[in-house]
Amino acid sequence: MTNDTNRRAFLKKTIQNTAGLSLALPILNSCQSEPIPSNKVDPTLPIILSTWNNKKANQAAWDTISKGGTALDGVEAGARIPEEDPNDQSVGYGGRPDRDGNVTLDACIMNSNGDYGAVTYLQHIKHPVSVARRVMEETPHALLSGAGALKFALEQGFEKENLLTSKSKQEWEEWKKTSEYKPKVNIELHDTIGILAIDKQKNLAGACTTSGLAYKMQGRIGDSPIAGAGLFVDNEIGCATATGMGELVLKSVGSFLIVELMRQGATPAEACKEAVMRIVRKQNYEELQVGYIAMNKSGEVGAYSLQSGFVYAITSDNQTRIVEVDSYI
Ligand code: ASP
Repeated sequence: MTNDTNRRAFLKKTIQNTAGLSLALPILNSCQSEPIPSNKVDPTLPIILSTWNNKKANQAAWDTISKGGTALDGVEAGARIPEEDPNDQSVGYGGRPDRDGNVTLDACIMNSNGDYGAVTYLQHIKHPVSVARRVMEETPHALLSGAGALKFALEQGFEKENLLTSKSKQEWEEWKKTSEYKPKVNIELHDTIGILAIDKQKNLAGACTTSGLAYKMQGRIGDSPIAGAGLFVDNEIGCATATGMGELVLKSVGSFLIVELMRQGATPAEACKEAVMRIVRKQNYEELQVGYIAMNKSGEVGAYSLQSGFVYAITSDNQTRIVEVDSYI
């Protein structure tokens, strides 16, 4: 065997072993992948996909893209809906605080050029996804955190607000009586929003925004603002996003893994399942939830979760459906 043949045989074996997929995946060299023309308008598009029952977010994304916005404009518009909803206690305004009573927000966004912007530990600003977009577009950096992120947001004209609603404050005060830190599966049914879109030009984008886990330690950052963990977009292949226990997603770099498995030929559903199975095989996941959703460049979608109860919202043809996701448990 030549060196090249050896390498290909090794790669094929490794991918089949690590992917744990029953089908033999074709080996694609990413350098060989065909550029996909992005100037053709596809009448079956856009398609919007988001975690949980985020119908209103999908509608906002749909409306934005239908009026000529890009996939990036769409995911930003969609993510802003739960961010400003005081009744969604996992995202933005109204989010549950950390154990010291601070509402701290994490968000990121990625466009079809592979650009990424993010904020972590952002306080007092209702729309971290829009600050993340400004980081991506207006700074030489990719991620700003804490006081620096707040300073940047204020310089950009974002308004400083109190994000701790009386409902979330009351619940936190109740929680302090026991101070028992035990995240519960699916307890927050709106949960973090990860939102993916493909627009009429077949360009992909994604965003992810959260207040993180309720009553987390001060300074804790989850997967949601981290490229490759909570979100990943590769315009040649597809995109993926996560919700649930961020520590499990961070340790397995789930969204990047899903996109790379799709690059090797897995469907979005197969790739999401394998990303969950990596957690099952390597980590202590008992009583914890992780859910993934993904979409490929053809607009094919898929999802999988660790525990039952995860749903996603899909919008195409101006119709939104809520889909129950298959799960390991
Ligand atoms: N993934 C988020 C985090 O760990 C939480 C969530 O999805 O509810 O911060």
